[in-house]
Parts: sequence; structure tokens; C-alpha cells
Amino acid sequence: MSDSKVRDVVIIGSGPAGYTAALYAARANLDTVVYQGIEVGGQLMLTTEVENYPGYPEGVTGPEMMEDFEKQAARFGAEMRPDNIARVDFSGRPFGLWPEGTEEPVLARAVIIATGAKAKWLGLPGEQRLMGRGVSSCATCDGFFFRDKRVAVVGGGDTAMEEALFLTNHAEKVTIIHRRDEFRASKIMLERARRNEKIDFIVNTVVEDVLGEEKVEGLRLRNVRTGEESELAVDGFFVAIGHKPATEIFQGQVEMDKGGYILQKEHTMTSVPGVFAAGDVSDRRYRQAVTAAGDGCRAAIDAERWLEEQGEAEDAEDPARWGLDKEPGKAPARPRSR
Ligand SMILES: Cc1cc2nc3c(=O)[nH]c(=O)nc-3n(C[C@H](O)[C@H](O)[C@H](O)COP(=O)(O)OP(=O)(O)OC[C@H]3O[C@@H](n4cnc5c(N)ncnc54)[C@H](O)[C@@H]3O)c2cc1C
Repeated sequence: MSDSKVRDVVIIGSGPAGYTAALYAARANLDTVVYQGIEVGGQLMLTTEVENYPGYPEGVTGPEMMEDFEKQAARFGAEMRPDNIARVDFSGRPFGLWPEGTEEPVLARAVIIATGAKAKWLGLPGEQRLMGRGVSSCATCDGFFFRDKRVAVVGGGDTAMEEALFLTNHAEKVTIIHRRDEFRASKIMLERARRNEKIDFIVNTVVEDVLGEEKVEGLRLRNVRTGEESELAVDGFFVAIGHKPATEIFQGQVEMDKGGYILQKEHTMTSVPGVFAAGDVSDRRYRQAVTAAGDGCRAAIDAERWLEEQGEAEDAEDPARWGLDKEPGKAPARPRSR
């Protein structure tokens, strides 16, 4: 059984949500550790230019920005661990979390889940190679770079229609490519896209590859009915076939929606009191760095207030369930610092 101390707050994930939660929790004088996961810095590590995060008037690269986030949280004492959490047990308190390759759980009085979501990709050879150089999964993030250019959007749901419509604010022409001739998108969204003069549709067609060496120059297409191959010249390629939240390890532990997004039940608190969720892991709508960071702030404040309430209800925690004595395991009461 574990003999480790109980941490006040364990944060899972090191994107904008996780680091912002860490900044607020550590600055509130809570004993805070961040399990950063395999992708230290989160999704923004994949991108070159971020132009829509306030505070960087000239823009900033994703990796630079995430380095700033990490430094700022560490400055107030948040401990960083570059490990993945492989398993959790939220069935009682303190909570148990197992970093990959360990037998001993890390114990937490409160947990903030900030594991993000990943765009689904088609798995084409050119897709990863040209990511950030014309291949994108976020029109809000990257649409601006395609002023007066030609772009394609692949997908047949509401997200694809939304992305295409947004892109018409910038691009000269937007082509929606869909593998069937029926669409999952709602009628109203589909009609809106069909009425837009900048948008055209190619149906019953799949993208075979993204063409270009240094940047996207076109797509190789195949008609699934006739087998005929063709090329489409575009400068940008937006994949809008859905997102997958990184929530496998929380299955059966906290309530999720049908898509696996963690439900925030009371402010940022999940169905388990003391477990909070922040950022893309519980957001199927906005998926922006600034909204994830804002959510991380909310989760840390919620966790701090919840921990303070728990101070008055000590019996809620049972360190003995992990073979700990109550006294050494009990985290000291901490003064508020805001
Ligand atoms: C290519 C690209 C470009 C983008 N450009 C912009 C932009 O210009 N502007 C903008 O606002 N947004 C942009 N976004 C969206 C933005 O990156 C996300 O909205 C934001 O990163 C979400 O933050 P998050 O903290 O919720 O999660 P993420 O950034 O996804 O971070 C998730 C973290 O969880 C960790 N993790 C996952 N599972 C585990 C586990 N089991 N144990 C431990 N850790 C785990 C990962 O290692 C990662 O650190 C872009 C996204 C992409 C992919």
C-alpha cells in the first residue's frame, strides 16, 4: 500500500486548461502536481502560429506559448511530472491515480481532469506531414491564414458545415468533400451551406492523399461509385470528421455524454464530488486555447472552494483505504491567498 502523502490537487493534462488550473491552484497555496502526459504542452505543440490568444499582439508559436504557461505555473510551486496517468479510482476519498508503470497510487484530495480532445484524422500520408502547413482541424484557429485562397473541408456533419461557412469569411472558394451523397448535418446547416455562393460540394468521393511538399497544394480524390481518380487544387485542407475526448481511463468513474465528453455537473465539478473537468475534455463547442484556459481557472477555483468546505467535514476522507494513517496523510489546512 502507498505511503505517499495526499496531494491537495492532482491535475491530469498540460494543455492550456491544465497549466492554468495549476497556476491558480498553486497560487492559492495548494499542494499541486501536474501529470503532463505524453504530449507535454497539449495540442498547441502541433501548431506554428497562434494569433488569437490575448496578450500576444504579434502572435506566438504554440510551443513558445505553452512553455510560458508551464513556467508561470511552476513559478508558484506547481510540480510537473511528465508521466501519463494509466488508471484512476474515484470510488472513495482520497482519490487514487496510477502513473504509467507504477504500482503505487498517487493520492489526491481533489482532481482536475484536463486531458483534452483530439481531432479525428483520415490517416492519410500527407495529413500529418503538412499539419500546420495547410492541413488543419480548426477553421476558427486557422481560417484567417487562407484569405482569398481555395480550401476544402472533408466531412458531412454539422461541424463540417460550420467550418465551411466560417471559412467563407476568408477564403475565395470552399469545397465540401463527402464520401456519401447523404449528409448527417442538420437540414438547416446543410441548406445554409448550399445557399452560400462560395461553397460547392463534391459527393460520393474520398480524399486519397494531400499533395504538396512544403505546403498543401492539392488533394487526390477518388469517386467511390465510379473509382475515377482526380486532383483538386487547394491551398488549405480542413478535416471536420469529429473529435475524440481523451477519456478512456475515466470510463465508469465519472459521467460522460454519448461522445465521451466529461459532464460538468455543478460549475466544473463532475458527477464525483472533488473531481473537476476543464477544457476540451468537456467542451464540444468552443475548443479554443482561451476557453480551455478560462475553464482551467474555473476548475481550480472550484476545487479550492470545495477543499475548503471539506476541511470542515474531515470524515469525508478515509486515508486508511490506501493503508495510510489519518494524521500523516492529512494535508494541512492552507491559508487563502487570492
Ligand atoms: C493544430 C492545432 C492548432 C490549433 N490552433 C489554435 C489556435 O490558433 N488558437 C486556439 O485558441 N486554439 C487552437 N487550437 C485548439 C487548442 O489547441 C485547444 O482548444 C486547446 O489546446 C485545448 O486545451 P486543453 O488544455 O483542454 O487540452 P489539450 O491541449 O488537448 O491538452 C491535453 C493534455 O492532456 C494530456 N493527457 C491526455 N491524456 C492523459 C493521461 N492519461 N495522463 C496524463 N496526461 C494526459 C496530454 O498530454 C496534454 O498535455 C489548435 C489545435 C490544433 C490541434
